Amino acid sequence: MSGTPESWSLIQPVKDGETLYGFIAIHRGNKEHPAFGATRIRQYTGVKEALSDVLNLSFLMSHKAALAGIRYGGGKGVLLDGPHMATINGRAHALRIYAEHVNQLGGKFITGSDLGVTQEDVDYLSTHSPYIVGIKEDPTTHTANGLLHSIEVVAEEVLNKSDLSDISIAIQGVGKVGGALLDILHDKVGYIVIADTDQERALLLVSRYPNVRVVSPDEILFQKVDILIPCALGGVFTKQNAHMVEARAIVGSANNQLDSDEVGDMLHKRGIFYAPDYLVNAGGLISVVHEFEQTADSHLLTEKVQNIKRELRDIIRKSKEESVAMHRIANRTAQEKIAALFSRNGWSSQESYG
Ligand code: NAD
Repeated sequence: MSGTPESWSLIQPVKDGETLYGFIAIHRGNKEHPAFGATRIRQYTGVKEALSDVLNLSFLMSHKAALAGIRYGGGKGVLLDGPHMATINGRAHALRIYAEHVNQLGGKFITGSDLGVTQEDVDYLSTHSPYIVGIKEDPTTHTANGLLHSIEVVAEEVLNKSDLSDISIAIQGVGKVGGALLDILHDKVGYIVIADTDQERALLLVSRYPNVRVVSPDEILFQKVDILIPCALGGVFTKQNAHMVEARAIVGSANNQLDSDEVGDMLHKRGIFYAPDYLVNAGGLISVVHEFEQTADSHLLTEKVQNIKRELRDIIRKSKEESVAMHRIANRTAQEKIAALFSRNGWSSQESYG
């Protein structure tokens, strides 16, 4: 994929001695075909890490939209978590400043909730910006449904199991998506283990679902289970830890789980099935685009999320036929779909990128 991402930095005093740092990156989008990408609030080691995250994620969002058959592009917003975010007034002030920056882009960037952003944050942002989505429809539910469909496909086609009660899973991160998935799977799956850095959250879920076990965040990626489900941060699989993964398949919501494409190749060589993150977690994007386009037909939304199954089956088939790792087939397919979109609409990259 070509095109240089545009980025805007938000560096604003929040109150005495405190500054709000953040970035919005647009990989592909303009006012007619905006860039979609949710906003995250996260503790970064510094602005350099935040900038790298926002650029990588905006690129990934372009791939995600293409694979999901969405004609819009990809973008992303990140805000660096800081002490001001911990107070109600400080957080509201920071979100208001952020909403003003989103407004300055005049509809080129449409955003909602990602990691570290609550539904209340989104509702509040929407009172200050018309470019906020995920208000009428909770995207997390659709992300979790898309994951469920993908887990069913993987159980059938990779694990040869038609019944989810025969499989074991490990969920890393039981926040909005991981928690919603646990709500769906707790009485369907045979064995479930979870971990969250927020120990209280994990323990609360274990008290609600006594069949669920909790392990420490350091252990969760290396559980010997059928399906590992990363629903926390990206970059979790690295050259240093890929040899320690014992799951048979990985199907998670976290964006950019592979630290590099080579890590995906390492997993593939070890016979571990990696479901491309931006394909299986597209349910949330599909739902916010549905809301943006003001489509009233809820069956159509359900159907579009179910289409993830078809796309995943297609990529599995190509991966088997060509003996090429899933993530590489997904990248190639996304690029082909973007090229076809440009050619169908007679767009030049100049027109579409920014
Ligand atoms: P969230 O902030 O609601 O939940 C993340 C959870 O992970 C939190 O409970 C946090 O404490 C936990 N966590 C963080 N680091 C951890 C670690 N090292 N080990 C274990 N737990 C850890 O975020 P979310 O909205 O559920 O998103 C989760 C992931 O899915 C993110 O990568 C996000 O980009 C991706 N995603 C989310 C959506 C959506 O609809 N919200 C859609 C697509 C992709």
